[in-house]
Amino acid sequence: MKTIYNIGIGITLTAFTIFIASLFLNVYTLTNKLIDDVGLGDVKTEALKVASKGFEGKTVSSKLEFVDELKQALSAANASIINKYKISDRDIDALVKLSSASGEIKYSTAFAEKVFPENDGAGQYKAKGINDFTGWIADREYQSAEDLKNDLKNALTGFNNNILYTKAFDDYAIGNLLFVFTKKAGTGLVSNNTGLFFALTFILAFIGAMIFILPKFWDGLPGIKHNRIFKTSLNSQGIIGILMGSFLILFYIVLYFFPVYIVEWVSISEVASMGLFGREASQWFLYGFLYTFAVLVMGLRFLSKYRHNKYQRIRTFSVMLFQLIIAFMMPQILFALNLPEVDLKNIWPLDYSFFFEWRIQSYLNSGTLGMMMLVWSIALIVIAVPVLTYFVGKRWYCSWVCGCGGLAETAGDPFRQLSSKKIIAWKTERYLIYAVLVFVVVMTSWVLYTFFTGKSVLLGIDSYQMRKIYGFLISSIFSGVVGTGFYPLMGNRIWCRFGCPLAAYMGIIQRFKSRFRITTNGGQCISCGNCSTYCEMGIDVRWYAQRGQDFARASCVGCGVCAAVCPRGVLKLENKSEKGRLNGPGLLGNDGVVKVRGTRLGIESA
Ligand code: SF4
Ligand code: SF4
Repeated sequence: MKTIYNIGIGITLTAFTIFIASLFLNVYTLTNKLIDDVGLGDVKTEALKVASKGFEGKTVSSKLEFVDELKQALSAANASIINKYKISDRDIDALVKLSSASGEIKYSTAFAEKVFPENDGAGQYKAKGINDFTGWIADREYQSAEDLKNDLKNALTGFNNNILYTKAFDDYAIGNLLFVFTKKAGTGLVSNNTGLFFALTFILAFIGAMIFILPKFWDGLPGIKHNRIFKTSLNSQGIIGILMGSFLILFYIVLYFFPVYIVEWVSISEVASMGLFGREASQWFLYGFLYTFAVLVMGLRFLSKYRHNKYQRIRTFSVMLFQLIIAFMMPQILFALNLPEVDLKNIWPLDYSFFFEWRIQSYLNSGTLGMMMLVWSIALIVIAVPVLTYFVGKRWYCSWVCGCGGLAETAGDPFRQLSSKKIIAWKTERYLIYAVLVFVVVMTSWVLYTFFTGKSVLLGIDSYQMRKIYGFLISSIFSGVVGTGFYPLMGNRIWCRFGCPLAAYMGIIQRFKSRFRITTNGGQCISCGNCSTYCEMGIDVRWYAQRGQDFARASCVGCGVCAAVCPRGVLKLENKSEKGRLNGPGLLGNDGVVKVRGTRLGIESA
């Protein structure tokens, strides 16, 4: 059996090596035809063609060099566009001169036609800018030409700043274009053989993983076997774990902030994107594809390990299906139907952008189906979350539906024992997760204020600035880079435990107003510590089990692994009457437990 496992690992590692190598096997050529094909519009196309002369047609083997040259060309194109369209100091002097021609100093927007007589695009654009931005000083009499000049300068600053967004390439556009051009400019081994590379990476990795995982369904007994869990480098923060964590962290940073450097992976994933949905792939398709791949493959591994436990079997199928159908396939289908491309199981405040104007608008613009989607999402927030959490605890979402939870439970399972049980971790968790909840509530209040009033600044704080900070710090860095990148370093539920605002919200309900609890039979506990070791939320379950004390901690995601790994059947996840839900410390021994439940606390007899 060991040989079979080694073959599986060997094949998977080979696929992974090819995947990494594919980033270095293309060459890149920017051509005028490519610039035309991207369809930037006449002004930008011409400017970029001029700016990339000398670079155009040159084949570059280093992606870093290509991206650098392209960046310079885009900046140069930007400079030439801004130069062409901006209203210069010379233009303003000419306007002042015309205003002073009759002796008195009186400005008129009609002077624009004299200063910009050319009937080309730039002349018309500037004349319109003069009308739009300087109307408020028209016909006003000035004491000095200097005063008029200052007013004109101030009025036209906004116009000149706007050119970057209306005519040229702003930072966002530059980031996008670097990605688009580099992906399309790539030729060579990978770009010419994407199908082959798809087979050598994804399919080969799948075959290797299956050779490794499937025999486990029949090999030996199911359930936790510690198997030197704290001795293997990967599972115990050893060098392999650190290397894997570093790779994941780097992957997330590149994916979020520098996707241009992984265009080959996007091209390879395009085989699936075109095959399944007839669409070009973006870095987000690549991410969704990898994510779903990881949940499905590692979900099978999880099933092989916990196959003895019905709860684990059903909820693992659940997260696998939710990821595959609702998170991965459904947005593509919605796109094909011209509807907002969203993951319908995402819920505010985890889905922090739900109330952004463009999101609401996109639902409103999508007819009846769009309205139904909007109502569905709001019903999830105000009805499903409190009601379901009341009846079954937060597990209905965290361990059965959520994509973050799904990845943590499947791909993150080998690392669950790394979740810290220290008091300091628990204290940090309490402050951090509720701080994120407060942050998202405040940010959303500002967003709604902007939505209803059209103004963005309230109490001196800009709503757009706040969403930018939240998006960067919480959504990208915390939930992505740290949340997943740190699996092999700090356990698999870092985001759910320390950062997820939805988990925080449901945690409050679960703790104070829910029928959910984990019951313990203290008399059976042998204090082996399996439950605490494998609790991914860092809860010291054994502490409760030893005392025969039932509990419902706000952070518990109801994964049920504590119960699944207990050799004595001490723990049970239950939903029952709220009355006497959380009994105090009980006595050890079966009689003691019965006595406490039956008499002292007035709970039904065990
Ligand atoms: S206490 Fe048990 S059910 Fe709750 S998170 Fe920990 S292992 Fe999962
Ligand atoms: S509750 Fe079960 S797993 Fe936890 S310490 Fe007791 S016997 Fe071990």
